[in-house]
Amino acid sequence: MFLGHYGVAFAAKRLAPRTSLGALTFAAEFLDELWPILLLLGVEQVRIVPGLMTMSPLDFIYYPFSHSLVTAIVWGTLIGGAYFLLRRYGRGAWIVAVLVVSHWFLDVPVHRPDLPIWPGASSPKVGWGWWNSIAITYILEFTIYAAGISAYVRATRARDRIGSWGLLVYIVVLAILFVASNGSPPPSERALAWTALGIWLFVPWAWWVDKHREYVGRVAIRVARPTTF
Ligand SMILES: [Zn+2]
Repeated sequence: MFLGHYGVAFAAKRLAPRTSLGALTFAAEFLDELWPILLLLGVEQVRIVPGLMTMSPLDFIYYPFSHSLVTAIVWGTLIGGAYFLLRRYGRGAWIVAVLVVSHWFLDVPVHRPDLPIWPGASSPKVGWGWWNSIAITYILEFTIYAAGISAYVRATRARDRIGSWGLLVYIVVLAILFVASNGSPPPSERALAWTALGIWLFVPWAWWVDKHREYVGRVAIRVARPTTF
């Protein structure tokens, strides 16, 4: 899954208003942010097999540290804990931790049965293989993405143009990246890993946009409207 993770990060702003969208995005996509680093270090392995699945040519041979359920829970605990030490915001720390783990569960429907429960050869692997359907993948990704954006936009208000246009460009660029990534397979595993590192860019971008928006919540919008007549 790709867009869906960003959608969940957007939606989470409502649950932890004081947590930056940057932190929420970092958490929701953490497993995929870690993965290219482990690939480049030679710790995890992927193979490009054109035509493997309709929506993905990636054969995830070995990725137990970034994409097993048990390590996802460990990462979630560590990152949620670190967030609490930095920000002293318990609610935000919980949400950040849950977002990290949510990544694994959102990957389950689309992946082949290649997601391990725990690191080690004895672990069963899960995945429902929805990446074999273009329609189901698009509906799933865009539904979660749109729902998340809608929740975020209703809960926050732009302070300036960075808050409005910066957000719009962010949303469109992510959607284009998703559509483009379903084109021709990457030339090599190494090129894939370097390209995948690019998703780190969206963490500071989300933080920047979020800094230029303010949380208004549901009630505030209703109260604010009559005064603008
Ligand atoms: Zn993933």
